[in-house]
Amino acid sequence: MKIAERIERLAESQSLQMAARCQQMREQGVDVIGMSLGEPDMDTPQHIQQAAQEAVANHWSHYGPVRGLPGLREAAAMRQNERSKIVYTANDVLVSVGAKMAIYNAIQTIINPGDEVILPTPCWVSYSEMVKVAEGRVVNIATRMEDQYCLTPDQLRKAITPKTRLLLLCTPNNPTGSVYSRQQLDELVAVLEEYPQVAVLADEIYSPLVYGVEAVSFAQYPQLADRLIVINGVSKAYAMTGYRIGWMLCKDAKFISGCARLQGQQITCATMVAQKAAEAAMKGSQDCVEDMRKVFEERKELICKLAAEIPGFKFDEPKGAFYLFPNVSAIGSGDQVVEYLLEKAHVACVSGSAFGCDDCIRLSYAISTEQIKEAMRRIKEALSQR
Ligand code: PLP
Repeated sequence: MKIAERIERLAESQSLQMAARCQQMREQGVDVIGMSLGEPDMDTPQHIQQAAQEAVANHWSHYGPVRGLPGLREAAAMRQNERSKIVYTANDVLVSVGAKMAIYNAIQTIINPGDEVILPTPCWVSYSEMVKVAEGRVVNIATRMEDQYCLTPDQLRKAITPKTRLLLLCTPNNPTGSVYSRQQLDELVAVLEEYPQVAVLADEIYSPLVYGVEAVSFAQYPQLADRLIVINGVSKAYAMTGYRIGWMLCKDAKFISGCARLQGQQITCATMVAQKAAEAAMKGSQDCVEDMRKVFEERKELICKLAAEIPGFKFDEPKGAFYLFPNVSAIGSGDQVVEYLLEKAHVACVSGSAFGCDDCIRLSYAISTEQIKEAMRRIKEALSQR
């Protein structure tokens, strides 16, 4: 069969590809340490598992509302309001199959062919491919390590044209671990106020996972209320990647309706049992999130200490999420170093080229401290033998 051109153009996710290679090597008996995947290694907290089991027992097995369960939407709005000046209600929330689908729906709903989307890089692998599917034009802006990989107001202003429709920004960031400070956001918002045609999609999926800094939300800026889409979900902070629940929040009712029409034609609604579990995650005690955050913080300290001892690794200490993104250009390109480390050290990571920055590699530290120590020992040894 002939594949449609828009799908032919679509790149495969490099992190998923690497996970598949990792699995293949393990099946051949190779002891590979996987640092390529962006998912917590912890189990889903007990009270959330229990909510899922109760949902099964209580026959949450029927179709539900397209926008998601009212209880979950209300709870998602309530959690967002704890860190917002914009006040959200259940009506402003659309629950989807993971944050990934929420982002996809948002892009499909506002991007027309030829519309420009500003995408600061390094950034998560899927954004640009989603924009391509919508036939939008991706305008990449390379952020710099000396700016902590954050977009500067000057860079933003220069990138905006009459065709700019959307700024897509992720804080805390995957893959760099950078977190925009209040002052940095103040300055970006000041520029955005001059360009009312530019909407903002703020991917804040890692917001609970920050280390020594505050994850300031774009929803702190009421002046953006009618053109701001905030993305969040349960995958990362509640160790629920497989439940596939995420959402968008937006005060523009017409936009949310558009996204709901699209979702209604695609999937009807997210899985009901998973929504009940996510509702328990949102409504229950947040101690489990703090416990996991502390574990990630300890691992971050450890990996930074060990990475600093590796000649040729240059990095900015991450402030959020669970990735280290060293610049390895003194050793080789990101692609070359990743390949070398997989073959020689049996450590799987992802090349920065997947995130729009071929000078770097991404190491996920969502693995045990023992694995981090062993992986960094192997990397150091393999690189010293080049
Ligand atoms: N946004 C970012 C920045 C991510 O890193 C990921 C997952 O890797 C997602 C969104 C998607 O999350 P979900 O599992 O909720 O689809």
